[in-house]
Amino acid sequence: MIDTGDTVDVLVVGGGNAALCAAIAARRARASVLVVEAAPKFYRGGNTRHTRNIRCAHDTATEQLIGPYTEDEFWDDLLRVTEGNTDEQLARHMIALSKPMLGWIGEQGVRFQPSLGGTLSLGRTNSFFLGGGRAMLNALYLTAERLGVDVLYDSPAVALDIENGRFRSATLRTSKGERVVHARALVAAAGGFEANIEWLKEGWGEIAENFLIRGTPYNRGDVLKMLEQSGVETIGDPTQCHAVAIDARAPKFDGGIITRLDCVVFGIVVNRKAKRFYDEGEDVWPKRYAIWGRLVAQQPGQIAWIIFDSSSLDMFMPSLYPPIAAQSIGELAAKLSLPVEALEKTIGDFNAAVRPGTFDHTVLDDCRTENLTPPKSHWARRIESPPFYAYPVRPGITFTYLCARVDRDARMRMNDGGGAENMFAAGEIMAGNVLGKGYAAGMGMTIGSVFGKLAGEGAARHARD
Ligand SMILES: Cc1cc2nc3c(=O)[nH]c(=O)nc-3n(C[C@H](O)[C@H](O)[C@H](O)COP(=O)(O)OP(=O)(O)OC[C@H]3O[C@@H](n4cnc5c(N)ncnc54)[C@H](O)[C@@H]3O)c2cc1C
Repeated sequence: MIDTGDTVDVLVVGGGNAALCAAIAARRARASVLVVEAAPKFYRGGNTRHTRNIRCAHDTATEQLIGPYTEDEFWDDLLRVTEGNTDEQLARHMIALSKPMLGWIGEQGVRFQPSLGGTLSLGRTNSFFLGGGRAMLNALYLTAERLGVDVLYDSPAVALDIENGRFRSATLRTSKGERVVHARALVAAAGGFEANIEWLKEGWGEIAENFLIRGTPYNRGDVLKMLEQSGVETIGDPTQCHAVAIDARAPKFDGGIITRLDCVVFGIVVNRKAKRFYDEGEDVWPKRYAIWGRLVAQQPGQIAWIIFDSSSLDMFMPSLYPPIAAQSIGELAAKLSLPVEALEKTIGDFNAAVRPGTFDHTVLDDCRTENLTPPKSHWARRIESPPFYAYPVRPGITFTYLCARVDRDARMRMNDGGGAENMFAAGEIMAGNVLGKGYAAGMGMTIGSVFGKLAGEGAARHARD
């Protein structure tokens, strides 16, 4: 065990967006900062590597965004997707602080590009990173290093010395053995516990074995667990998480964005019994894509199939894997090992229920079913033009919501009701404070950026005083 006794002002545990925003903010506030990242350099940046955009409120159009997205509208969207499972004061605080965030991130070297079109419909609300999450991270790391932030890769925090809400030191596992780092303040930005299947099972039971993890295998929740064991208050339901339907052929971890399927709105989704189980056209995709992981998790075997026909094939971004194709529904059912008659009946009933309308996947159009349970409320078109296609889907877990409780300054709350003396949290590790359930695209990065900056500033203030 190496313990030089040296003390840094701010120790940031984690290496993604939240960690880097905190590190930069703390350094700009003249604190000495050490970032410790569990992953080796090539894999630095956790789930942030996979991101594409951030949702921020803005009062007028920007260079990349078409028109205003007010704080109230952001709040309405958050209220709707969480169904009220949010801390209103904290959420409104975050939304207000999201306004200057685009400018602040830009000042750290991150570049943006015009929004993508198609099924994402985010042109007014979400800013896209030029070059995606990796390019965004590269810019943040570069800025942090230029400012004098030290970074240790391949160095997971494996123990935290905390007493009565006061952080003293962390033990890191490095290639040279264990090393103790002392700091005046801690920012925990080590992600959720989504890559820890055993922990997921505590909430979900054995079915969690069938989940795929979309992002980094390093987000195992070890830091969250240590904080919890040291008296930090946690908040959230262990089964609530951001989960989307991803291609069932994706790898167990880190498949990223290219395994996601955005074609639910163009077809129907059936389970192993070849039965539909939810309204595929309930709302625009950015407000609904994050419910499909949970919906599939509730189906037998945690698997389902998106089925559509040739009229939709070119309407969405292709994924890594090709769809399974057949000239008839019977042949498709056989290829998918689904009951043939049941699938033919499901599609027959669906087609019979479709009412004529003007198809437009960019708005809530009038193409819907009638007298069908569950309905398809928009974008309902008959599935009748061969070839017929299917994508197998499984729950793809993005990040978990059970997390450390924080206040407006991103300071952790302790079980005794008080605030931690020198411990702050940002990003997934506290996302459940505002996301009790549900999700609206781009909010993961809002949470990480806003609370990351707050945490870094708070930690630096504490260290200097
Ligand atoms: C495929 C995919 C696409 C996504 N797209 C978007 C998007 O476009 N927009 C959006 O807003 N959100 C998106 N998200 C969600 C978004 O990635 C997260 O909300 C956000 O990146 C979280 O940032 P973070 O810094 O909290 O966590 P992360 O970026 O995951 O960083 C956590 C870091 O902690 C490190 N770590 C873990 N344990 C330890 C330890 N013990 N010691 C030291 N370090 C540790 C990890 O290695 C990692 O670097 C996406 C997620 C995925 C998986």
